[in-house]
Amino acid sequence: MKAAVYHGPNDLRLEDAPHPHVGPDDILLQVITCGICGTDLRIWHGGHRKYPSGTVRVPGHEVVGDVVAVGANVRGVQPGQRYIIAPNWGCGHCRQCVTGNNNRCANYGAVGITVDGAFAEYMLVPGVSIGQGNLIPVEPGADPAVASLVEPFACVVRGQEALGGIRPEDVVVVMGAGPIGVMHMMLARLQGARRVIASEMLPARMEQAKRAGADRVVNIKEEDLAAIVHDVTGGEGADVVIVAAPSPQGQQDAIRIAGIGGRINFFGGLPKDKPTVELDSNAVHYKELLVTGTTACSTADCWKAAAILQSGRADFAWLVSQRYPLDSVLDAFAAAEDRSALKIVVEP
Ligand SMILES: [Zn+2]
Ligand SMILES: [Zn+2]
Repeated sequence: MKAAVYHGPNDLRLEDAPHPHVGPDDILLQVITCGICGTDLRIWHGGHRKYPSGTVRVPGHEVVGDVVAVGANVRGVQPGQRYIIAPNWGCGHCRQCVTGNNNRCANYGAVGITVDGAFAEYMLVPGVSIGQGNLIPVEPGADPAVASLVEPFACVVRGQEALGGIRPEDVVVVMGAGPIGVMHMMLARLQGARRVIASEMLPARMEQAKRAGADRVVNIKEEDLAAIVHDVTGGEGADVVIVAAPSPQGQQDAIRIAGIGGRINFFGGLPKDKPTVELDSNAVHYKELLVTGTTACSTADCWKAAAILQSGRADFAWLVSQRYPLDSVLDAFAAAEDRSALKIVVEP
């Protein structure tokens, strides 16, 4: 079968790969859509810790596919069914796994990360993940490219749940209007946020923020975010600040612009070589701030994300900005690097 195989930093090759062998507990999918995510770009450039030197593997973890073969031990799955794949699984029996946080498991695995993923014609879904509920049905008539947004959107759902959700009285600031930031804005809107303020500096992304429902889009190159938040909130400060950018400055600003009782999510990780930030700890103390961090998503988060995406309550289709066939997967990766693109998907 045709597959995009990682051979080393910046060495992704479209080549003929062995057809996956379906064990008795596994299923085989024909891949319909696989989204390209920041994680895939990090893998491509050799910066992912689960792709140490010498790794030869197919990336791709934002997967929608049709079942083409079912292992003898798998019950309740038939060829022809279309599924979203929640990519992460855990050992299944540790404290994190049994509390619904299999993304925190010390022995976690994931398609496209620890085993072959979906930038390929076919992908194996391992039995261990099927046993944890990682097959999420795609509703009839749904656009598979929209369904493939489940994994990144699940990370967004997780980020906002860490804040106790969004409340009707909340003024929410989202820093960064890339695909993740935009999804944060849409979810905050869906939960009924009073106001959504976006901060960004790239013009194309500022437009995206407007389309996602931001009431005010702040160009941080030209405007003072803190002053605008002060104005919008009558001096009270933001109720929620989500830092959806790998920005130390953004994290510092979040502490500063949050009001009393404010809730903050450090959604984006910082560059590996610069993880230390000077924060005003007294602001956390005296304002009684809740500062949270979230990473990746659990299978439970994916089910919630799929329910929202497939509910029809908001239009997510515009988030898919470009679609590429598998033959053009390298062009697709190059396009994903251009920060004006929203979500790029490969359709094998
Ligand atoms: Zn992803
Ligand atoms: Zn576990």
